[in-house]
Amino acid sequence: MRKIAVLTSGGDAPGMNAAIRAVVRTAIYHGMEVVGILRGYSGLMQEEMMPMTLGSVADIIQRGGTILYTARCEAFKQPEGQARGLEVLRKHGIEGLVVIGGDGSFRGAQALHKLGMPTIGIPGTIDNDIPCCDVTIGFDTAVNTAIEAIDKIRDTATSHDRTYVVEVMGRHAGDIAMYVGLAGGAESVLIPEAPYDLDEVIRKLERGVARGKKHSIIIVAEGAASGIEIGKYLAEHTGFEVRVTVLGHIQRGGAPTARDRVLASQLGAAAVELLRDNVSGKMVGTRNGVVQAVDFDTVFTTPRQPDMRLYDLANILSI
Ligand code: ADP
Repeated sequence: MRKIAVLTSGGDAPGMNAAIRAVVRTAIYHGMEVVGILRGYSGLMQEEMMPMTLGSVADIIQRGGTILYTARCEAFKQPEGQARGLEVLRKHGIEGLVVIGGDGSFRGAQALHKLGMPTIGIPGTIDNDIPCCDVTIGFDTAVNTAIEAIDKIRDTATSHDRTYVVEVMGRHAGDIAMYVGLAGGAESVLIPEAPYDLDEVIRKLERGVARGKKHSIIIVAEGAASGIEIGKYLAEHTGFEVRVTVLGHIQRGGAPTARDRVLASQLGAAAVELLRDNVSGKMVGTRNGVVQAVDFDTVFTTPRQPDMRLYDLANILSI
């Protein structure tokens, strides 16, 4: 394989740049040319691309976001859009593609693979909602960013005897909420994967107050409920002063943690090695810490569950 391309697609995640860097440097190390496609599948269809040199990825390992930009592109869900993508790749002599993104992006990658373009996916999303891998690039950074914010909220919560509801991201997945709840010592964690009872949340709050607890923090995954609605309910059904914080997009930005940088570097390099070995139609991720490739079809058909033992532990420790 002489020439490959790399793109980022879907929601951005800290560590995507470290993955791009690893793809580019590994490919050049093996004597290949590398092209960066801008704005995901949208840029692919419009031939937005740039040659990637060793220097083009210098000084990006520590930067959040993606230097290739990212986009959502409805047209690429259609066969005509995918055929156009293939045509552009062929026109530019590209023989393999690395797609960094979430499961939506992998469906586009799978389509190109089926059309005969060797393609490998790298899981990059803060949500950690991709099965068949230990963790996605960006998740660790998002959790750390949220924890930093929650520690600050805790300071003011203690000073004012308040109940705080904090809504965190994660789309349909509760992983961020669960990790943040456990690591931040929250009183309750609401996630989409487990039923919750707001009256039980209230009873727990009241038990805490009776014990002399100064403040409480309740973490709500955006996929479970609206933090604002939960805050309203709690305020209406208790005499407590309730404040709501929606952390929002600060969780998507910032410098990637060392863990995300290392993972991104491993997966970026592995993706190139797989293409060199003529492997296609797979996602590369770690399982029990070991880098492995899994068929996209397996990724699409495997149900995903967060580690519910952590959820149970968060509940036990916040008794
Ligand atoms: P993520 O990759 O983070 O899950 P999305 O679900 O928004 O994000 O998908 C990102 C992009 O991947 C979409 O805008 C579209 O271009 C492409 N994509 C998503 N689903 C499909 C599909 N079924 N077939 C082809 N391309 C898809």
